[in-house]
Amino acid sequence: MESLNEIKSLLKSKQLRVTQTRLAVATILLNNKEKPLTSEEIFNKIQKSKKYDCDQVSVYRILSTYDEIGFIKKSNFQGEASRYILSNMEENNSLGHEHYFKCTACNYIKPFHNCFVSSKERELEKNGFKNLKHHLEITGLCPKCAKVS
Ligand SMILES: [Zn+2]
Ligand SMILES: [Zn+2]
Repeated sequence: MESLNEIKSLLKSKQLRVTQTRLAVATILLNNKEKPLTSEEIFNKIQKSKKYDCDQVSVYRILSTYDEIGFIKKSNFQGEASRYILSNMEENNSLGHEHYFKCTACNYIKPFHNCFVSSKERELEKNGFKNLKHHLEITGLCPKCAKVS
């Protein structure tokens, strides 16, 4: 997903109307490909751009729609609001989801693109295990904060 045009055709292919607010949310996500954002952060960025007028509830609704069509990935950190990041639709297979490292000092977030747990799950599935789920979050200090402390 590289451009707004791609997003427009994706919306159309999913029978979704191309609205200014949907595009605004998509633009923010495009500009933050490596940084998962909460719906509040996305809303604040839209407000700041002053180009669009929308409320927080519609941003949240758009995010759930995007999540449903696989356009974005949702992640949860313990005790925190969900964060969203564009998914790579081309390689959207079972390895497609991401986990994150979060710095406890500066809140820097780094996504990990390959999940090594998925292959373990598939191995278990072959042995008859079903409905497997996992949560993984890595927290600690990023290199910058590690230097200071
Ligand atoms: Zn840090
Ligand atoms: Zn995983």
